[in-house]
Amino acid sequence: MPGRPLIGIPLQTYPAVPGERPALWGIGRSYLEALARHGAVPLPIPPLASDPELARLYAERIDGLLLAGGSDIAPTRYGEPVRAQCGAIDPERDAVELELVRLVRDAGKPVFGICRGMQLLNVACGGTLYQDIPSQVPAALKHDYTAKQGHTDRTDSPHDVTVKPGTKLSAILGSTLHPVNSIHHQAVKDLGRDLLASAFAPDGIVEGIESPGPEFVLGVQWHPEDLLDAQPQMGRLFAAFVSAAGNRV
Ligand code: MN
Repeated sequence: MPGRPLIGIPLQTYPAVPGERPALWGIGRSYLEALARHGAVPLPIPPLASDPELARLYAERIDGLLLAGGSDIAPTRYGEPVRAQCGAIDPERDAVELELVRLVRDAGKPVFGICRGMQLLNVACGGTLYQDIPSQVPAALKHDYTAKQGHTDRTDSPHDVTVKPGTKLSAILGSTLHPVNSIHHQAVKDLGRDLLASAFAPDGIVEGIESPGPEFVLGVQWHPEDLLDAQPQMGRLFAAFVSAAGNRV
């Protein structure tokens, strides 16, 4: 199928398990399946941070960048000391993703961030994060429906988000209130430059961010890639992203 846009998706580091397997780079298959299902050619990008020329070469070739979920971002990336509750980090992935966001945005290509990816987009724009919602925002709802906490059904949607009218996100999702899954313990604190908050949980936690201009630069804190069957309207996020990237092919 000619004209299908090439969407880069940086991978996560999985350290070696002695006696079982070497270190791996990988990403949840539902991201790759969602991209292919919506007309993209997914291109996994290994976080080879020691070869910075690669980021430039990938950025030149891809038509859009998908930032997926994963490890916590190193707090030094937003100028804060590491709190005890901050989780495992993936410094090579941080480095490659931050460089890719800079290059891809400079080229005017679409960026879509999911969960950690939304947080990465915020940090790339100079914003900051709550390293751990329960300890830093005690009045917040529970957002941490992670496997670590014993939750394995990624389609469970424990809280709603209210989407701000007039945003790109509201144009894509079509209505203002959506139940969403919530598989995160960090969140956006201070917004980055030239970003606006487009969705909020009932406790005020930011669940969506985007650029104010017409370009597709958008992030969501929930996981639409795991809701395509339970809530088909979430597919519109991938359709809009792939379409924006395809318009450049
Ligand atoms: Mn949440």
